[in-house]
Amino acid sequence: MPDLPVYMDNHATTRVDPRVVDAMLPFFTDQYGNAGSVSHAFGWGAKEAVDAARAQIAAAIGAGERDIVFTSGATESNNLAIRGVADRARRKGNHLVSVTTEHKGVLDPLTRLSRRGFQVTLVPVEPAGSERAGLVDPQRVDEAIRQDTILVSVMLANNEIGAIGPLTDIAALCAKRGVPLHCDATQAVGKMPVDVDVLGVDLMSFSAHKMYGPKGVGALYVRRRNSAVRLQPQIDGGGQEGGFRSGTLNVPGIVGFARALELCIAEMSDERPRLSALRARLYAGLIERLEGVTLNGPALADEVRLPANLNVSFAYVNGEALMMSMQHLAVSSGSACTSANPEPSHVLRALGLDEDQTRASLRFGLGRFNTAEDVEFAIATVAESVERLRKLSSLA
Ligand code: PMP
Repeated sequence: MPDLPVYMDNHATTRVDPRVVDAMLPFFTDQYGNAGSVSHAFGWGAKEAVDAARAQIAAAIGAGERDIVFTSGATESNNLAIRGVADRARRKGNHLVSVTTEHKGVLDPLTRLSRRGFQVTLVPVEPAGSERAGLVDPQRVDEAIRQDTILVSVMLANNEIGAIGPLTDIAALCAKRGVPLHCDATQAVGKMPVDVDVLGVDLMSFSAHKMYGPKGVGALYVRRRNSAVRLQPQIDGGGQEGGFRSGTLNVPGIVGFARALELCIAEMSDERPRLSALRARLYAGLIERLEGVTLNGPALADEVRLPANLNVSFAYVNGEALMMSMQHLAVSSGSACTSANPEPSHVLRALGLDEDQTRASLRFGLGRFNTAEDVEFAIATVAESVERLRKLSSLA
């Protein structure tokens, strides 16, 4: 029996790796200076640590040190990228292109811009029912770009269905049309090889707490060389981060962020096949034990889907009720739940699933601390709960 409860919600957040905590601790208690203090050793020490972390994070994604802007997380990075470009580009145009399955941290700033008079085109993804469900066709993005398009924003890996976007192809189209490309790579960095030049992105958001680092720290990559990107800062003040993002730097968080990414990259070649095998067993176990299980999203293949992601619907079962009945297993339903308003997942709806199928879904996010034992426990727990709920509903 594994230690309970079993955590399989690693797309929501991850446990901070103890090695990351070790790296962070001195920056709370001994080296607690403000990285902006230039007049004493406490400040110099903090700045040195931030500089080293910045260099390490930049190198990990193939960027230059000057291209990294530290933020409070990917939501802020997405907002800075989208609003920052829109505020500077008004004279050039007022049209932005994105995709229906993006995170709310991209979709909501776009909605707010549209209330301010900007025009937004959301490109649909491949519908459910094929191996490519949830993937973006670059041709559709190309068709959406207009003379007055000021930004294209496409995520690298989807947080609900793990679908991997064809960023390199989209970047080539954007470059040809002279439109900057932003990428929300929050679920991808640390999980798969990510290089800003290989991808061809101008702006890229990512966050420490999805890669076994602390919550409340993230970064926006901003291409400085050979780039048409101009950004309007969204938070003004002390002029930190080259004026792009004022505010005292979260030194322990930044140190932890760098250590977390370093560990992910060092362990990636072993961790990806390990997670892929665990996910394959999880899916095989569920379809062996239960009828009426449908895979949501693209095929379970590493080129098109994150190896740690599984999203399935169970016919005749409500995902919320299923989750609630499994006290010892932490997963999430396809519903992006705010406490008062459990809305069915906009991602699954964008694949063309109806409301029942959407509400019947569960998302599993495997992670570093999951074991084969955890997976067997999850299979047994889900199978028993689904059978029980189906029996109850057939009695009703
Ligand atoms: N984008 C994606 C794809 C995400 O999965 C998340 C986290 N749910 C975010 C953005 C927001 O990141 P943060 O929690 O760091 O603000």
